[in-house]
Amino acid sequence: MPPTLRAHPHTIHRKERIVPTATRGRAKGQGQWALGHREPLNKNEQSKKDDNPLNVRARIENIYAHGGFDSIDPADLRGRFRWWGLYTQRKAGIDGGKTAILEDEDLDDRYFMMRVRMDGGQLSLEQLRAVAEISKRYGRDTADVTDRQNIQLHWIEVEDVPAIWNALEAVGLTTQEACGDCPRVILGSPVAGISADERIDPTPLIEEITSEFVGDKSLSNLPRKFKSAISWLPDIPYECNDISFLGAEHPEHGPGFDLWVGGGLSTNPMLAKRLGTWIPAEKVAEVWAAVVRLFRDYGYRRLRHRARLKFLVNDWGVDEFRRVVEEEYLGYRLDDLAPPPVPERLLDHIGVHKQADGKFYIGAAPTVGRVSGTLLSQLADIAERYGSGRIRTTPMQKLLLLDVDEADVDDAVRALDDIGLSANPSGWRRATMACTGIEFCKLAIVDTKDRATALVSELERRVPELDVPISVHVNGCPNACARTQTADIGLKGQLMTVDGKQVPGFQVHLGGGHGVHAGFGRKLRGLKVSSDELGDYITNLARRYLSGRLSDETFAEW
Ligand code: SF4
Repeated sequence: MPPTLRAHPHTIHRKERIVPTATRGRAKGQGQWALGHREPLNKNEQSKKDDNPLNVRARIENIYAHGGFDSIDPADLRGRFRWWGLYTQRKAGIDGGKTAILEDEDLDDRYFMMRVRMDGGQLSLEQLRAVAEISKRYGRDTADVTDRQNIQLHWIEVEDVPAIWNALEAVGLTTQEACGDCPRVILGSPVAGISADERIDPTPLIEEITSEFVGDKSLSNLPRKFKSAISWLPDIPYECNDISFLGAEHPEHGPGFDLWVGGGLSTNPMLAKRLGTWIPAEKVAEVWAAVVRLFRDYGYRRLRHRARLKFLVNDWGVDEFRRVVEEEYLGYRLDDLAPPPVPERLLDHIGVHKQADGKFYIGAAPTVGRVSGTLLSQLADIAERYGSGRIRTTPMQKLLLLDVDEADVDDAVRALDDIGLSANPSGWRRATMACTGIEFCKLAIVDTKDRATALVSELERRVPELDVPISVHVNGCPNACARTQTADIGLKGQLMTVDGKQVPGFQVHLGGGHGVHAGFGRKLRGLKVSSDELGDYITNLARRYLSGRLSDETFAEW
């Protein structure tokens, strides 16, 4: 079904907060390389200067995989390993109260989380089987679909990493720059190349960027992570990335992309801003690289918490940012583009939908993105039997099975349901997401995956009448990996005091959204809910919404 579009609610503030070139960022040095601040100003910058983080691969293969965990240089372990998709996971049994108090090494387990990048969320049958086998053989059968279309594995030991890389690379997958201060996975439409509503398939553009720039050492030391998205359809959270290219028609030039920059959530959330430009498909990679280079050169490196691109965009304003991209990096002017219509809400592709070629795709919901190697193997069998083998992951932690003949749709839906992937989930199962949380994440304060899974079951039982999805995003800390601020009900993990005791709980953000409802949920002062009371709180809220809404009023409009 084509996305519902509405007139753009925002105008471009072409005059907002322009800082003249002569004074741009100079009044106060913030570690910008372009302004001569080349000396590292914190330990992260020092580590990146000491050795390009991509070089750690050779040490993993030649030293650490043989010497084991204890042979790993701490600077590699807590810094450079990330550039190859590896984080130490949280030591079991340390509660959330200790997260902010203990040193990193006290929280470090001897096992790793490994993030496998899936640019555009596209997986072939052999890739899916490879990931499933790695999970079963090396990762205690763990796997999570993340809200950035990656698959994350846990319980990985450093001794096994070279063998895992061999298995991944044999099928065209990689963990390179899956984490770290570098260009990470590129989000793409989960229905790229198969949707009848798409004018440009972004797949070749994503491939052009990844093949040319992932692993490019001139772009592997950025001030901070760099998140990208390219899609014709509004089915990715385009306002939450450092750079997004969203499909748009130019009245004279035809289909191309509307460019957004400077989005990011975490503790200082900002929605991306339109630069007011139209980018033809053949220029996407060039413009993407120009913005990354600008970020590398002008990004703030002094303080980690001000290093994301959003701060630079916010300080300069979109006019100045665009001028620098054009004059200093591209050498030509970009075409203007008036604000195109924006979507009513993000498409999640759940259910059965017709493809442009007459076949069907089926969007199914694992609960809060949690799967396993075993389940991925079963999914591969289903994809082989009923489809062509193509699978997609979505930024809503969901999975799509592509290329199903009409005659096989019912059987495929049943087969998916049998392994726990419902194509007709409740509104709760459909729209609840959870980040990694205290089970594996060292920054977490509270449990998320298990809590959210139990919450979904409870809400299905208590509010079965929910007829439109209400998005519930459960996050284990303020970093908002599961997009706290743009959910209908965003939950930020924290400790709270109940009856004199510290218990896990959540700060509630209400009414965030994307598209025409783009904005951050209201963070109501004092609106904190303990983890135990979460079911009661959301049940009451949902019942109030269902009884008080106007006929077709969504939760975001209510
Ligand atoms: Fe970890 Fe916090 Fe991100 Fe959750 S939001 S995965 S707890 S850093």
